[in-house]
Parts: sequence; C-alpha cells; structure tokens
Amino acid sequence: MTKGLIFDIKKYAIHDGPGIRTTVFLKGCPLRCWWCHNPEGQSPQKELFYNAEKCLAGCTDCIAACPNQAITRDSTGISIDKSKCRMKEDCAGACPTGALKVIGQEISADELMKEIEKDRIFYQNSSGGVTFSGGEPLMQINFLDAVLEKCKSQYLHTVVDTCGYAPFEDFEKIMDKVDLFLYDLKTMDEEEHLKSTGVSNQLVLDNLKKLGKSAREIHVRIPLIPGFNDSLENAQKTAQFIRNIPGINRINLLPYHRAGTQKYLNLKRTPKDISPLSEDKIKRLQKIYETYDFSVKIGG
Ligand code: SF4
Ligand code: SF4
Repeated sequence: MTKGLIFDIKKYAIHDGPGIRTTVFLKGCPLRCWWCHNPEGQSPQKELFYNAEKCLAGCTDCIAACPNQAITRDSTGISIDKSKCRMKEDCAGACPTGALKVIGQEISADELMKEIEKDRIFYQNSSGGVTFSGGEPLMQINFLDAVLEKCKSQYLHTVVDTCGYAPFEDFEKIMDKVDLFLYDLKTMDEEEHLKSTGVSNQLVLDNLKKLGKSAREIHVRIPLIPGFNDSLENAQKTAQFIRNIPGINRINLLPYHRAGTQKYLNLKRTPKDISPLSEDKIKRLQKIYETYDFSVKIGG
C-alpha cells in the first residue's frame, strides 16, 4: 500500500477552509518561494531540524549516537555534515531536549484516517472537515488520492490547498473527491515567478483555467509579498485573469509575515529579512479586487 510522507497534522484549524478542520501537511513542493513559511515542507525527503536554543551546553549525545560521524560541535552548537548523514535518525532519538528533530513521518492512508476520524465531532458541529496542504499535496498524488477516497467514503468535507504546479491529469484524478480547492496565485509576471519560485507560472495559470470548468468550488489565495507581487498593476492583471474563470468569487489575500524566520534558522538556511506591507497598501490592493466584484478576505 502507498505510504505518504507528512510533516505535520494541525488540529482545530480555522483558516484552511470552512468550519473546524484537521489540516494534514504533505512533504515536498516543486516550488522554492523565498517567502515560504513552511520551508520544512519543501524537500520531499525527511530532514533534520536543529533548534540551537534548546541545545544543552556540553552535551554530546547526538554526536555519540551518529554511526557516520556526521555531527560535530563548537561553542555555537552542533553542525551536521550533510554529505555524511544517512538519515538513520539515531541522533534525534538520542537528543534529550528535542533540539534535534526529524521532520517527516511516513504514514499509511489507514493510519492517517484514524487520526482524522478522532475529530469527527468537531467537523460535524462546525461544518468543517479535512484539509490537505503542504508543501504541495499533489506531489504525492497516489497517497493523496487514496486518503481522499477514504474521506469521501466517510462523508467528510475535503479541501486541497495547492500551488497549482502539477500535471492536470493529477487534478482530474482527485477532482470528484475534493469539495473545495484553495488555489495559490502568486503573480501574472512569468519572469518574476520564475525568478522567485524557480518555475514558470504558465502551468499554474493553465491549470486554474481548466479547473474552473469542472471543480466544485475554488477560492484563490494570493500571498502579498513586498517587492514581488504587490504592485497595483499586478493586482489589476490578476483580477482580470480570474474574472474570466467561471465559479471563482472568493479571494483571500495573505500578507507576508516573518513567522517562518526561525524555521529557516533551524534548517540551517538563511531567511530573507524584509518588512511586511503597510495596512494602507493592503487596503489599496483589496479595493482593486473588490472593484471586480470578488468577495475579498484578508487572511486565510
Ligand atoms: S543531543 Fe540534542 S541537546 Fe545534545 S548536543 Fe545534540 S542537539 Fe544538543
Ligand atoms: S508553493 Fe507554497 S509550500 Fe511551495 S515553496 Fe511556495 S509557499 Fe512554500
């Protein structure tokens, strides 16, 4: 049976679709947005997450546990030589404080359903359900399809939060098991998209046009990233593009925030440090979408 690789399960989520939801985060994404607040979801493999603040002075437990001598330490904490690490996970198992953790858990569709089922009462009382996010959930299409199938057989409301970068056949495979797609649109400028996410936006735009013809419901989610897609011109072009797609009347604007900064440091990566947009700028962008008769919400 296909197993999936997930990096989190968030209970009682209220920003990932209607009602109270359980959000499952699948690991792996084809994009590399520099503002991503889930950088631990980008790699499709398990990886180590190191939080120096929790690391005990003088401790060498992980160094002793590593069979490949991949870990060393100096006065600032430990360093992991990725060329030697074989992800045996002995080090994280030996860590007494949780400073060293493995991100990524293999799970079967049945095991995941058991977790999801635990909160059925909350879904029933709030018209909620289950959301699959990431990373990009369609990167694990067979696993996603298997879990969606089980959710539908249990009459659960399903949401898929996607960056839109996947073969359209994958969307077709799951479409009749998805009640709502949360679809990310980043910019209409192909060059900017390529520069800031690593891929062109053509597939994303084409898929949205096709999905609009057959999906039950789609909400478009637009991250507002300073210096990337915050021009009024881009908002006009985006609104005009979406207006021509049937069935989309709801847009969520997601202003950039710095919440992911510590995660980059824990992954030994360098975050970009930029200031969030002003309230005034966010309001002006919101107005543009509203003039095209979309219902616009700030936030998820
Ligand atoms: S085992 Fe944990 S606390 Fe000890 S040195 Fe390694 S990361 Fe730090
Ligand atoms: S598409 Fe989403 S998950 Fe993937 S890198 Fe961009 S922000 Fe992160």
